[in-house]
Amino acid sequence: MNRSRSQELYERSRRLMPGGVSSPVRAFEPYPSFIQRASGSRLYDVDGNELIDYCMGFGPHILGHAHSAVVKAVQQQAERGTLYGAPTELELRMAETVRRCFPSMEMMRFVSSGTEATMHALRLARGVTGRKLIVKMKGGFHGAHDSVLVKAGSGAATHSAPDSAGVPEEAASNTLLAPYNDIEAVESLLLSNKGRVAAVIVEPVLGNIGPVEPDEGYLPRLREVTEEHGALLIFDEVITGFRLSMGGAQSRFNVRPDITTLGKVLGGGLPIGAFGARAEIMEKVSPLGPVYQAGTFAGNPLSMAAGLAALKELGSVGHEGLERKGQVMRSQLAALLREHRLPFQVAGVGSMFQIFMVDRPVRDHRDAMAADAKRFMRLFHALLERGVYIPPSQYETCFLSTAHSDEDINRTVNAYDEALEAIQ
Ligand SMILES: *Cc1c(COP(=O)(O)O)cnc(C)c1O
Repeated sequence: MNRSRSQELYERSRRLMPGGVSSPVRAFEPYPSFIQRASGSRLYDVDGNELIDYCMGFGPHILGHAHSAVVKAVQQQAERGTLYGAPTELELRMAETVRRCFPSMEMMRFVSSGTEATMHALRLARGVTGRKLIVKMKGGFHGAHDSVLVKAGSGAATHSAPDSAGVPEEAASNTLLAPYNDIEAVESLLLSNKGRVAAVIVEPVLGNIGPVEPDEGYLPRLREVTEEHGALLIFDEVITGFRLSMGGAQSRFNVRPDITTLGKVLGGGLPIGAFGARAEIMEKVSPLGPVYQAGTFAGNPLSMAAGLAALKELGSVGHEGLERKGQVMRSQLAALLREHRLPFQVAGVGSMFQIFMVDRPVRDHRDAMAADAKRFMRLFHALLERGVYIPPSQYETCFLSTAHSDEDINRTVNAYDEALEAIQ
């Protein structure tokens, strides 16, 4: 595959932008593919290569790229203006739509990214409870801000350490870590920090370490123990919201969190985030309450118009096709792994999937981290060479869209077949 124009653009970009990218997950060795345009299930790079895309912008494009209903909504709105600094009927209609799908979000606020949504959700939880500590799961990702960029502390320390230079130890130390799918670990943190934990934040299905499903009963038990200890339960549904069902993971698994964060699919491919909860909690947000939040582009008309159009379309198309395609993809990949006698795992749920290059089922970050991430990158390149673009990391999730055809899936499975052979 000729990628010389991408290489050329990368050489220029890396002098001006760290790694030549605007977000680190987009970078891969020796240089990323620069994209010129996209349509449906396809990306077209600057060298004219056509790629079947399973990165899908890292999740938002559940209808595929440049869906006609979304494009039309954006064009119409752009002509009416893109930002007013004043409320719009679009936001109201979006809020009504979200509330219908997520009854737990009686009130909400729109922001511009998932990072903002979780940052403000955590501030809100602290503001409402008057408590300082939060619990997050190892391997859970909630955006790129101080309280969630943490890793396990050294030795027997129960408090965490910064997972990035520039995060103050004081900020990291207010975040406690538990393994995913380990309810006893959460319970014991809540017990040993009695009355001090404001919130437990969790991706109901992990998506940022590859897809990891909750064990039967894990989410309901999280609901019970947080309630017992007066800590708020935050479901970070930035990936799962509208992807696992119109009502997200909370509807699929029938567990009602206190606070929900949304993003990605919600914006129809434009920048967006949202956090919401029952009214008594959300009434603590400014200007009604003492918890401050603000944003110039928050609830901007373009994102609202794109999101409304996308959710309307998704609601009428439904999730059955996505579910079926996800099942077909996972079962075909599992069959390939058996044929190639590779002891790897196929993981995922709904329209999310991934191959974990590890010889045991992946239940938490430890299993995922045991995967052969280097070998995975050889798979990534072997797939790219064959016209299939997946996220360039073992620790990301592949996403199907309503635009992926059965023919796309057949071609993709054939590409995996050859790629798995090539990396033996
Ligand atoms: C992507 C993601 C975020 C961050 O959203 P951005 O829009 O990239 O800021 C937060 N939480 C989860 C679960 C995500 O997948």
